[in-house]
Amino acid sequence: MGEFELINLIQAIQSEYNIKQSPYINTAIGDDCAILKLPAESEFVVSTDTLINNVHFNDTLSAAEIGHKALAVNLSDIAAMAAQPIAATLNLTLPEIDQNWLTEFLHGFFSLAEKHQVTLVGGDTTKGPLSISVTINGIVENGKAIKRSTAQSDDLIYVSGLLGEAAFVLDNHAQDQSALHTPTPHIALGLALQGIANAMIDISDGLSSDLQHITTASAKGAIIHADAIPLGLQLEAALNRNQALEFALHGGEDYVLCFTVPKDKLGELRKIKQQFANIAEIGVITESPGLLLMQNNKTMPLAAKGYNHFNDR
Ligand code: ADP
Ligand code: MG
Repeated sequence: MGEFELINLIQAIQSEYNIKQSPYINTAIGDDCAILKLPAESEFVVSTDTLINNVHFNDTLSAAEIGHKALAVNLSDIAAMAAQPIAATLNLTLPEIDQNWLTEFLHGFFSLAEKHQVTLVGGDTTKGPLSISVTINGIVENGKAIKRSTAQSDDLIYVSGLLGEAAFVLDNHAQDQSALHTPTPHIALGLALQGIANAMIDISDGLSSDLQHITTASAKGAIIHADAIPLGLQLEAALNRNQALEFALHGGEDYVLCFTVPKDKLGELRKIKQQFANIAEIGVITESPGLLLMQNNKTMPLAAKGYNHFNDR
């Protein structure tokens, strides 16, 4: 199979999925560029993420899981801006063209693309060590995106799911590996938080690091309540509370949203909580900078020690 058959295969598999023709896409795969139309009164939201074999995943992931995850981590960034995903591009670097692997990979990718009505509009294919790079394009109504830099003092801090499970799976080969292998991007929640949350981020590196991105960008601080952190179920079952907290505070790849809400929006948030399970209040934004952890009525500094590619852990 050559490059052109590969592109045909991508298009054939995409056409098996019920991805409706988007009014925002003029031209998809097949020309030199895809052409997207920005609707009036809206802004483009663009993000890209690369997954490299033996860095971001290994043999324990199936091809379908790699396809799912490559798109999911990008969708999670779109969710974190409160945006609507529209179109993706896919850069594949493959050591060889293995049609079975590729077919399985594409089914993993398009199953998730279909859920969010994302069209694959282009990409590039090269030969080399296995690496997958996805770029996602989304839209948001003018001024409605939720940034990291706009948290306000006294905002309450929330997370949208259980924490630490993915990092626990990575370290302990837990029975259910789905938290690490097939994360769920929280797109609908992100959109629902428009006009309610002041600041938002998705937790990819770990709660402590990612919350610190919000506090630093907003020139604020935060106090986190250790007892309020929602723990992953396998993590909670296997470890004592303090060991589990290490994973939940600092483990990466949860892909849940962390957001801050001012007190005058708590009524609106209550309605959202009825629709989205697992939203937990975990702390408060403070005027004074730095992260603090409150445990047993004592506060201590909380080091931000999530994943950083160029740091020695
Ligand atoms: P060019 O040489 O002009 O860059 P290519 O031959 O690389 O074009 O690609 C032809 C068409 O197929 C383009 O529309 C491109 O976006 C698409 N394409 C190539 N590789 C992929 C891929 N991995 N996923 C999706 N579309 C792809
Ligand atoms: Mg090309």
